[in-house]
Amino acid sequence: MSDLQRREFLTGAAAFAAATATLAGAERASGADDPPRPVRGDKGAPILGPSNPSREAQSPDRLNPPVTDSGTLPTLRWSFADSHIKMREGGWSRQTTIREIPSSTDLALVNMRLKAGGVRELHWHKPAEWAFMVKGRARITAIDEQGRAFQEDVGEGDIWNFPSGIPHSIQGLEGDGAEFVLVFDDGNFSEDSTFSVTDWIAHTPREVLAKNFGVPERAFANIPEKERFIFQSKVPGPLSEDRVAGAGPLPMPFSYRLLAQEPIRTKGGTVRISDSTNFPVATTIAAAFVEIEPGAMRELHWHPNANEAQYYISGQARMTVFAAHETAGTFDYQPGDVGFVPRNMGHYIENTGKTTLRFLELWRADKFADISLRQWLAFTPAELVAANVKIDTSILANIPKHKTPVVPA
Ligand code: MN
Ligand code: MN
Repeated sequence: MSDLQRREFLTGAAAFAAATATLAGAERASGADDPPRPVRGDKGAPILGPSNPSREAQSPDRLNPPVTDSGTLPTLRWSFADSHIKMREGGWSRQTTIREIPSSTDLALVNMRLKAGGVRELHWHKPAEWAFMVKGRARITAIDEQGRAFQEDVGEGDIWNFPSGIPHSIQGLEGDGAEFVLVFDDGNFSEDSTFSVTDWIAHTPREVLAKNFGVPERAFANIPEKERFIFQSKVPGPLSEDRVAGAGPLPMPFSYRLLAQEPIRTKGGTVRISDSTNFPVATTIAAAFVEIEPGAMRELHWHPNANEAQYYISGQARMTVFAAHETAGTFDYQPGDVGFVPRNMGHYIENTGKTTLRFLELWRADKFADISLRQWLAFTPAELVAANVKIDTSILANIPKHKTPVVPA
C-alpha cells in the first residue's frame, strides 16, 4: 500500500467510524446488528466494497432481512428526502408518485410547505385531493359547482378533501405557516400539471378576458405571464374577515378534524379512521391515523378493497409484505417516508423505535376495510384451523375474537 493509498484508507476508516458512532446513538431496529451487516451466523459476509453506512442503518431489514423473507418484491418504500423539491418564494413542494414507487398506480402523495402568507395559488385538478395537516395552520378556500363557497382554517391533525375538479387554494397562516401532505387518487398525478388560474388567464386572449369579465382590456395589464404555483403574499387576517357567503351553505364540509375524533384504543396504540361514513365528501380516499407504542404492532391484516399507501410522521417502523407465491419482503421506515402495500397483500407494521410511531394509512376507497388474521382464525372452526396450521386447539381457543388493530409489545 503506497502512502497515498494508506492515507485514503485511514481517512475512509475514520469517516466510517464517525458515521457508525453517530448511528450507534440513534434508534435501531430490533434484533439488528449495530451497525447492520449482511452477516447471519455462517451466512453472508461483511461488505468489502462501497458502503453507505447512514443509508444502510436506515434499512437494517434490507441488509440483514428476517429469515422468513423470500423472493423479490419491488420497492415498497420511498423517502421524500429523495424527491426533487420545487422551491418558490413562499414555500415548496415535493412528490411521491408512480414514478417513485412503481406499484403506486392509484395514489400520489405531495408534501407541501407554505410560509406564513405563502399561497398555493387558485387551481383545480382531475384527481380528488385529500390532505392531512402535519404542522402549523392554513386557510383553505373552495367553491362547488353550484357556487356554494367554503373558507376554513385548518390546524394540526385536520384533514380536507376537494373532489375532482373543485377549485381551491391553500395559504399559510400567522406563525410559521403550515406543512401538510396531500394525497391524490391517481398515481400518475403530478403537481406540475394542475389547472392554475394564472396559467389559464395567461393563455387566454385579452379581448376574451375583457368580454368575459365585462371590463376594459387594460384591466389585464399586470397579469402574470405564467403559472405562479406557490408565491409569497401577505399574512391574512382573521377568518371572519375572509368569509364570503357564496350561493348558499355547502351540504358537506370540505374539512374534518380527524385528531379530535375519539380513537379506537388498544393496549398498544390508537387508530382514528376517516372515510365517507364520517367525512362524506371523501368518497375516493379513506384514511387511518395510527399511533403505535414502542414494540407494539399494527396486527397482521390485509385490505380486500384497495392498495394502501402510508405516510410516516414520527418514530420508526418495519413492515413485512406477504405477496403470495412464497414471496415476502421487509422494509424499514423513517419519518418522511412513504410506504406502499398492494391490495390484498398481508402485512404488519411494527414500531421498531423507542418513541411513539405515528403514520397515516391511505386507500383509494370510499370506506375503510381490513381483514384481521387473528379474527379470521378465531372465527373458523378450531379443528379446521389446527389441521391447517398445526397449532394446538388449546392455543387457538385463546385468540381474542374482537378486532385489535394494534397489538401490544
Ligand atoms: Mn390542489
Ligand atoms: Mn394496512
